[in-house]
Amino acid sequence: MPSTPPSPKLSGKARPLPYGRQSISEEDIQAVAEVLRSDWLTTGPTVDRFERTVAEYVGAPHAVAVSSGTAALHAITRALQLSPGDEVIVPPITFAATANAVVYEGGVPIFADVNPDTLLIDPAAVESKITPKTRAIIAVDYAGQPCDYDALRALASKHSLALIADGCHALGARSGNARVGSIADMTAFSFHPVKHITTGEGGMVTTANPDFAKHMRQFRNHGISTDHRERAERESWFYEMRELGYNYRITDFQCALGISQMCRLDAWLERRRAIAAMYGRLFAASDHVRPLALRPGITHAYHLYVVRISGDRQAVFAALRNEGIGVNVHYVPVHLHPYYQERFGTRPGLCPHGESAYQSILSLPMFSDMMDEDVVRVAEATMRYASAG
Ligand SMILES: *Cc1c(COP(=O)(O)O)cnc(C)c1O
Repeated sequence: MPSTPPSPKLSGKARPLPYGRQSISEEDIQAVAEVLRSDWLTTGPTVDRFERTVAEYVGAPHAVAVSSGTAALHAITRALQLSPGDEVIVPPITFAATANAVVYEGGVPIFADVNPDTLLIDPAAVESKITPKTRAIIAVDYAGQPCDYDALRALASKHSLALIADGCHALGARSGNARVGSIADMTAFSFHPVKHITTGEGGMVTTANPDFAKHMRQFRNHGISTDHRERAERESWFYEMRELGYNYRITDFQCALGISQMCRLDAWLERRRAIAAMYGRLFAASDHVRPLALRPGITHAYHLYVVRISGDRQAVFAALRNEGIGVNVHYVPVHLHPYYQERFGTRPGLCPHGESAYQSILSLPMFSDMMDEDVVRVAEATMRYASAG
């Protein structure tokens, strides 16, 4: 059964609702405290245990934990060994970090438009952007819905490209029976508090490729070829820095929180899906509020619940915020940020579907501790303001 906490009695104005929120239990706190009392604070046995927990959950042979989802994406673009000017295809409707990770490594992000109904990268648009310089595709499982990986894999194979997933929204999502994390060549996850599970800040890459995994372990530790634990085992002081890496390590106590949170992931996913189903039923009759389309054969992870508003989205946004309902807009199309326009010459009109969606999308509150009455309140207020506009 989904855990629905007791409703505080609402007097006057209803309590504020964020669009997303972490859930921390006494068990989580206990797990972190235990590690704080142990010998290892950073890069110890709990990091390994967290990596194995997530790897097993998603069905990937290898997992490399790092300090953020952004560091995970950067470890991926480093493992691709891009040459300056190499192109990596990304969608415009994502967090800027997806494209930034390409730029960190001297690559050029090439924006391929999204499908207007799902806001997932459109394989036909990807194909039209492939050139002799293309090295990889980064698919973003926007809102928690897996992309069309069959079509993307076919393109990647045909053109010898790496297929990367930014799965930061999609821990626990499935495409057929395969979980996100086991489909692409490398998949990035984030454990920021707004995501499905949290380590405060944190991230992970899952992969079936042992060479990628080894390279990313080195990269997260300054480019040094063995970590101090291996050296301790070998009773050796020697180490070599083989490339310019970073300190992207995650701590053991963060990973203790992550392992403890993983125990509740399936229950949380079930609750998120129940909330989405409630929203869907409530919006079915509305002419003004339309949820994003679902692809066949997928199991959604509902990091976000995104609707399209016909009418004045800005007015609906402001009215809901004024009622303490923490709606948001995900995302400003990445190619429209001043940095990308100035550095890469991207302009409005490059991705018409993404740009037009940006005018009408709204992310409604979606988190596992939301109560049924919260969902009804949000849906009714959204429909009321949307039909007024
Ligand atoms: C959250 C997120 C990231 C970055 O993760 P951090 O842990 O905040 O660095 C990257 N891509 C997407 C799609 C995200 O939602």
